[in-house]
Amino acid sequence: MLTLIANRQPPTANTCLNSQFQIELIPSPSKGVPMSQQVLKPRVRGFICITSHPDGCAAAVREQIAYVKSRQPIQGGPKSVLVIGASTGYGLSSRISAAFGSGAATLGVFFERNGEGDKPGSPGWYNTAGFHAEAKKAGLKAVSLNGDAFSAELKAQVIESIKSKMPGGKVDLIVYSLASPRRTAPDGVTYKSVLKPTGAPFHAKNLDTDKKVVNEVTLETASADDIAQTVKVMGGEDWELWMNALDGAGVLKEGCQTVAYSYIGPQVTWPIYKDGTIGKAKEDLERAGRKIDSLMKLHRGRAFVSVNKAVVTQASSAIPVVPLYVSLLFKIMKAKGTHEGCIEQIQRLFEKQMYNGNALDFDENGRVRIDDWEMAPDVQKAVFEAWPHVTTETFDAHADFAGYQSDFMKNFGFGLAGIDYEAPTEVERPIEDA
Ligand code: NAD
Repeated sequence: MLTLIANRQPPTANTCLNSQFQIELIPSPSKGVPMSQQVLKPRVRGFICITSHPDGCAAAVREQIAYVKSRQPIQGGPKSVLVIGASTGYGLSSRISAAFGSGAATLGVFFERNGEGDKPGSPGWYNTAGFHAEAKKAGLKAVSLNGDAFSAELKAQVIESIKSKMPGGKVDLIVYSLASPRRTAPDGVTYKSVLKPTGAPFHAKNLDTDKKVVNEVTLETASADDIAQTVKVMGGEDWELWMNALDGAGVLKEGCQTVAYSYIGPQVTWPIYKDGTIGKAKEDLERAGRKIDSLMKLHRGRAFVSVNKAVVTQASSAIPVVPLYVSLLFKIMKAKGTHEGCIEQIQRLFEKQMYNGNALDFDENGRVRIDDWEMAPDVQKAVFEAWPHVTTETFDAHADFAGYQSDFMKNFGFGLAGIDYEAPTEVERPIEDA
């Protein structure tokens, strides 16, 4: 089997992406070659865990698949799906819902690392290995390309793969779900995204998730260059490049849809999110969405931005203030019975908005809002009222830190039922063709 890999740094939130990597085809280790068995324990460093567990990641993927299978099959759902950013978070859940809820062939693009020697791989690699294994068992086609989604080379590889491997040589849904700290654009410049307020510094309550301490942070104001660079990385330019390339190659099916994900969140995080550098990038994503929608109309299709709920992912754990808000939010939403993770969110997007004969329900800015339960006035009022009273001492009374931590660890394959974390396990895992 050949797996497409890129020689690059692990794409963790605190690791710079190597923009100059080459995509290459390398053979997977053949049977009989000794590989490396390791006992893998979580090693958390701030907002990242530097180890991950392949069997735990596969179990987490199976949990998501089980949720999708517990739902009714999606009627009129997608059959040939490209997910850009398919290995973790919202992109992974989109891939799982499309495959197991709608029987779709999926082509996943991501930037991950297999284990090597005594070093475990990245969770997104292991998630994908787990996904492929389950897809194969279920007779679902799965193709994965590991490399830099921002590059023209990878776009060309994806087009080639769609033509040669996807049903009818076309796709009927493209999910754009990248979260990256940097991007090398077609101009050859590497832009960096930063999380900073715009206009004025932001002083706010924050959570030290390592020490479970509620502290304060002051975040300095972004420069005009910080804003411009963040827009380059997390704005809509690359989504447009993707859609123009796919259209130009003739691989968009009639009626094809494309969706990109965004976030708005509560007032307490607006200075760092909605009104911050990342919020400016999300405004640009919406601009791109409107432009792409005109292109998609030519195919009797559509493009839109879906505003999703705050969940614990590698990307969101890295944003100051957000983990504190998320811990409070989880407690409130769980008490109301409206709590959702990535898979419940995406399944609801597919079931209640995009397919099953439903129409998209747009807000006044033309966005789909599956953050509706998070943004419900009573939920936001409860957050707003609790916020001034949250201290290290009162934290447990207001927050679901156990829930936050459990989701965080699960993202790295730890804390899953049925996994023997004392047993050595093979760190180098192939992504088997499915
Ligand atoms: P994530 O970190 O879990 O996933 C990011 C994905 O992007 C991974 O598959 C990773 O491999 C891929 N990726 C990163 N750089 C890449 C590159 N150069 N080439 C190829 N693949 C690359 O992130 P997430 O939280 O699921 O975020 C996905 C989207 O959802 C983002 O647009 C984010 O703003 C949005 N969103 C997230 C939340 C949240 O709470 N996490 C809420 C609403 C919206």
